[in-house]
Amino acid sequence: MAESFFAELKRFVGFVAAEETALRAGAPLFSPHFARVSSAFYVRLSAHDEARSIFSGNEQIERLKLTLQDWLRLLFQGPWDEAYYQKRTRIGKVHVDIGLPQRFMFSAMNVVRLELLEIADQVVSDTTLRRQIVGALHKILDMELAIMLQSYRDAFVNKVQATERKEKTRLEDRLALSETRYEEIVEKGEALIITCRPGGEIILFGGRCEAVTGLSRQQVQHENWLDLFCSEEDRPQVLANCDQILRGVRAPAYEGPVLTPQGQGRRVRWHFTSWLENGAPIICAMGIDVTEERELALRTRRAERLAALGMMAAGLAHEIRNPLNAAIIQLTVAERRLARSTRGDEAGATQPIELAGSEMKRLATLVDDFLQFAKPQPLRLSVCDLRATAEATVTLLAPLAAKAGVDLKLEPGAAVSVEIDDEKMKQVLHNLVRNAIEAVGSSGQVRVRVESSSDNARLTVRDNGPGMPADSPIFEPFFTTKENGTGLGLAIVHRIVTDHGGTIDIDSHPGRTEFCVTLQLARPRAPGQPAATVA
Ligand code: ADP
Ligand code: MG
Repeated sequence: MAESFFAELKRFVGFVAAEETALRAGAPLFSPHFARVSSAFYVRLSAHDEARSIFSGNEQIERLKLTLQDWLRLLFQGPWDEAYYQKRTRIGKVHVDIGLPQRFMFSAMNVVRLELLEIADQVVSDTTLRRQIVGALHKILDMELAIMLQSYRDAFVNKVQATERKEKTRLEDRLALSETRYEEIVEKGEALIITCRPGGEIILFGGRCEAVTGLSRQQVQHENWLDLFCSEEDRPQVLANCDQILRGVRAPAYEGPVLTPQGQGRRVRWHFTSWLENGAPIICAMGIDVTEERELALRTRRAERLAALGMMAAGLAHEIRNPLNAAIIQLTVAERRLARSTRGDEAGATQPIELAGSEMKRLATLVDDFLQFAKPQPLRLSVCDLRATAEATVTLLAPLAAKAGVDLKLEPGAAVSVEIDDEKMKQVLHNLVRNAIEAVGSSGQVRVRVESSSDNARLTVRDNGPGMPADSPIFEPFFTTKENGTGLGLAIVHRIVTDHGGTIDIDSHPGRTEFCVTLQLARPRAPGQPAATVA
């Protein structure tokens, strides 16, 4: 078994049987003076303000004096075994616990030592015995000091360990918190987060960036942010912004295109910040996908413009329609009269009037179309079969298609129940199919399809015509590429579809153009409940 701390201590100071005998011999001689020693001890301690402040008052000091006398008794009588050591250790711990500073403990122990040496001189007349007792006293008091110091050391170690444990827990908690924040913001958040070096070399590529671009972080490692997210012409501006950021000045956001793996173009607004990592500057680009926001703003702007324009022009158109109709009637009358008076003598006499009439009719169509568009009537909603609506329109336009040499067909399919204004939806289809017929020209093909998915209905008009450039403002009123076009057909379509809460998408390439109207499916209605009329 390993030697105990106390056994080792005794061996080290040379505290053996002779010392035990000497102390026991001194016990009866010293004990009458213990009260004096203990008083001197507390007088010394109380003389010092800081040491005194540790005690609660005289009562406590009196109690402690008795404890010290017991302590002295045991010092002289032993037995100086493990139990002795344990007891002394407990006393040492009490001193630590009450917060007695080490320096006071030292000097107080010295008081005890000096008092005992003085008593030895007074009460032990035999010089040999006195020398033995004094030697033994020095040894035992040194051991007492060592035990005390051990108590202080243990307490100190415990305190350091506790602090370390607390600090470790605090650091672990902070690490966990920043990991959670990182996970939530960089990996799962809606923003595209990228950090890079000042030249643009990518360091960190957030989870949302991977999702939007379809590129993994391994793929973009060492790639340049500018190559991936910045167009050539915007590059100087973005670099200037980054310079600004690195100088600690706020820079404007940059909005640029991002291509999804499906080849879809999204618009992302990037904000920049910077900080130092190990002394090196880092730029952080935080991107928000603003595609929908942009489209919504565009749609709202268009709607607002249309509304203002519509109000103004509707009044004017209304004023034009009546005199125009009257003029057309008068012109017909004039044409008949002229025909009768010349009785065919003069070939082509009525031709100018016919021409004027057809121009005026064209003008009347424009006015009618315009009023349709500008002065929308409230929707008269009812549950209809969208397929039946499509069938009626295709039948109506069949002669026009035949005349133009176009193959127009409704693709087979099942009934699709929707809640719509049937007349207005016919107008939508009419405008779309008419455009398609006009686009394909002779021997072209136009297909109409009605279908439904679990949550919506779709009406598609497809043709194999030349298509149109991606940026044509086809929904803008009066945009037309046709000599006789009014440019109102698609504006009307857009108005009606959005009034129905639907959307319209275009997919156009040379040789294939598809307009797709998406509407909500009719909700099953309780029997007897009327269809709503929406203003
Ligand atoms: P309009 O038919 O009087 O020109 P619209 O609003 O109906 O006015 O159409 C606007 C323009 O959109 C057309 O002039 C044409 O350039 C283009 N467009 C519409 N539909 C098609 C189509 N199916 N294929 C090609 N271009 C089309
Ligand atoms: Mg048209």
